[in-house]
Amino acid sequence: MLEIKVRTASRVEARSITAEVAQAVKNKEGTLVYLFTPHTTCGLLINEDADPAVMSDIMDALDRLVPRNHSYKHAEGNADAHIKSSLTGHSLLVPFSGGRLVLGTWQGIFLMEFDGPRERKVHIAVLR
Ligand code: ZN
Repeated sequence: MLEIKVRTASRVEARSITAEVAQAVKNKEGTLVYLFTPHTTCGLLINEDADPAVMSDIMDALDRLVPRNHSYKHAEGNADAHIKSSLTGHSLLVPFSGGRLVLGTWQGIFLMEFDGPRERKVHIAVLR
């Protein structure tokens, strides 16, 4: 199992990790790349990595769906982050061919930070 560490810089952030993942799996053998982040307040997502306004709009939409200030039962003060993490999910499968990720022209892989800044781990396995 491979692993990358991602240092996020703010409480909420859509951080592109495409380059780090591509580097970690470069020239490995297999047909799928499995990514898993072992945290409860961040997530993984694939979406547009060309116009940064897209990820900004996605973060804004998640904030409208799950506002930070609401009367949640979880007393730690980060219930919104747990819920957003549940919405995005913690794992991804990406097609892999010829030692490279097979992503669409506009697609990137994002670590979705909802309770940063923190150091996050992403486990990576290349499946046959
Ligand atoms: Zn919590």
